[in-house]
Amino acid sequence: MSRYAILIDIKKCNGCYSCFLACRDEYYGNEYPEYSAAQPLNGQFWMQVQEIERGEYPKPKVAYIAKPCLHCENAPCMDAAKDGAIYRRPDGIVMIDPVKAKGQEAIVNACPYRVIFWNAELQLPQKCTLCAHRLDDGEKLPRCVESCPTGALVFGDLDDPSSEISQLSATLPVEDLHPQFATRPLVRYVGIPRRFIAGEVVFKDKEGECPEGVQVSLSGGGLNLATATDLFGDFEFEDMKKNEKYQVTVSAAGYKDRILECVTQKDVNLGEIVLERK
Ligand code: SF4
Ligand code: SF4
Repeated sequence: MSRYAILIDIKKCNGCYSCFLACRDEYYGNEYPEYSAAQPLNGQFWMQVQEIERGEYPKPKVAYIAKPCLHCENAPCMDAAKDGAIYRRPDGIVMIDPVKAKGQEAIVNACPYRVIFWNAELQLPQKCTLCAHRLDDGEKLPRCVESCPTGALVFGDLDDPSSEISQLSATLPVEDLHPQFATRPLVRYVGIPRRFIAGEVVFKDKEGECPEGVQVSLSGGGLNLATATDLFGDFEFEDMKKNEKYQVTVSAAGYKDRILECVTQKDVNLGEIVLERK
């Protein structure tokens, strides 16, 4: 038996929206009887690309989270649907029956991930089908996955140990989006953004020079990490825990160490760290 899923690597996603556009092209105005009714012109995002702003000026960052229906194994949308209007196929895909679901607007609010949309004209809840009509027709990939230029979306069969998605899932730190929902989604993620700690090093006696290769170490939260400043004198530690206390030490030969402390209630920019001669 198959268990179809997508593994989404957030660090590979550049926010190009190709997946969203491919999904629109597949479903806008196109009906696939027994699979899905036509998507309307406005208001539906079966493959959403959410933009997450991180940090703030002068060290802002952006992450993009592609989000279709996550095809949960413990799906609250199924519980909310009457008359079997939402069902799970043997291959794990969660489907909305476009006939039985007519008039059931309550289904829209049952999804904690907010990936079900109401078609007011057809009086129908609608969402991603993982392109089930294509898979049943012998196609290998959903349109969104086929269109992704960066390899951020990997589709395959989790019950096939030789599939790329199975092998990646066994080796990468794969996570559920919003694990607090406890829905056991088949669509899972790598690289969900946490906190970053960044800063910029300058030498007091060398104004205007960007010191490259200055050693920066970090401790706290059970971690001991080290990095070095880049060409611009900048450094960064990614994937820090939230609300954790960290100590950052900046060291350069001939200069006094600087030790700074921070708490990752939000992304942290330590700003300009000035090193003085010993
Ligand atoms: S993500 Fe939402 S719509 Fe999709 S299966 Fe889970 S609960 Fe249902
Ligand atoms: S197509 Fe790929 S890279 Fe582009 S937004 Fe979608 S997931 Fe990200």
